Amino acid sequence: MISDKMTGLVQNSSVIRAMFEEGKKLASIYGPENVFDFSLGNPSVEPPQAVKDAVMDIINKESANFVHGYMNNSGYEDVRAAIAASINKKFNTAFGEENIVMTVGAAGGLNVILKALLNPGDEVITFAPFFGEYRNYVSNFDGKLMIVSPNTATFQPNLVEFEKKITDRTKAVIINTPNNPTGVVYSEDTITALAHILNKKQAEFKTSIYLISDEPYRELVYDGVEVPYLTKYYKNTIVGYSYSKSLSLPGERIGYLVIPKEADAFEDIIGAVNVANRILGFVNAPSLIQRVVAKCLDSEVDISVYNRNRELLYNSLVQYGYTCVKPEGAFYLFIKALKEDDIAFCAAAKKHNILIVPGTSFGCPGYCRIAYCVDYKTIEGSLGGFKKLAEEYSAK
Ligand code: PLP
Repeated sequence: MISDKMTGLVQNSSVIRAMFEEGKKLASIYGPENVFDFSLGNPSVEPPQAVKDAVMDIINKESANFVHGYMNNSGYEDVRAAIAASINKKFNTAFGEENIVMTVGAAGGLNVILKALLNPGDEVITFAPFFGEYRNYVSNFDGKLMIVSPNTATFQPNLVEFEKKITDRTKAVIINTPNNPTGVVYSEDTITALAHILNKKQAEFKTSIYLISDEPYRELVYDGVEVPYLTKYYKNTIVGYSYSKSLSLPGERIGYLVIPKEADAFEDIIGAVNVANRILGFVNAPSLIQRVVAKCLDSEVDISVYNRNRELLYNSLVQYGYTCVKPEGAFYLFIKALKEDDIAFCAAAKKHNILIVPGTSFGCPGYCRIAYCVDYKTIEGSLGGFKKLAEEYSAK
């Protein structure tokens, strides 16, 4: 028998698994070119050539021990130093290798930092809509995820409710900007106000509240929008970064945490994160790809491809009568479902061979996520179906 906790988790994951199976079934009936699968955030843009060159170069030129051996649980020192220098150059910060811990993607980084911070019953606040896996990551360490309800006018965080939700058990706050599922970038005003509230509440409760900035989409922004670097606004910030989207390497499982020395209990956190990486069974982030990303710190994927998708999909959907805040980053559109029940609306979309994810999965019922990291022709092919779907509801 599996554990009671896992029984519940397996049941709850079945919605997305079912959608995946459904996509495969539809493709076998109608042909893959007639199925428009917008359900997964899997990058459609190739990794930069520099990644391929670095892989070949390292494999061919370096010794096995340099590339494939065990290392410090926090990752190779020279890789961490190179990443710190690159962050400093971009954001005018002053990090060193001692502030960087290599992780198994953003998911690994979040689990490691939450393991390091949480006592059972500690509260972690996040803003709806949010990446649904936060529920699992927090429950892995017996924390309580406290959800601030969505501000659907702009999808900037609802700070009034946030302030009321902070208690003496609040250990951390997770934010994600550019956001999955809305694509919204939290403005500098929002970040400044959020930092102000956190400082006030830390003083009131005499606690440390860590702001965990989950940043897999930092580089995916359009129209020259700037994403504020959070450590500059609040000293108890921990950044979780990932190369899954910025270099289109999600299967390689590589990212890092930034832990500033100004953060409360810095030395303890670094020690705890190092041990957490080991005892969660990661041991260390994958070695070859650590070496690869260190050689690709100035490389980027071609985000003009996503931008072209964004423009076509957003402009078309708005024209058909859908409501959506225009995303400034990531590769998602978050549309208002044309009926209250978002799960039923996604089922109606499936009748047009369009697969999209109910907002309920992101703590925001009444909305649906469209992942536009797909071929342009998938978007073109789907537009007729989206139009008919809108017409079905406007006729009601
Ligand atoms: N956080 C957010 C908001 C995400 O959207 C994702 C993946 O889609 C992750 C974390 C996990 O990323 P990684 O592949 O780096 O573990």
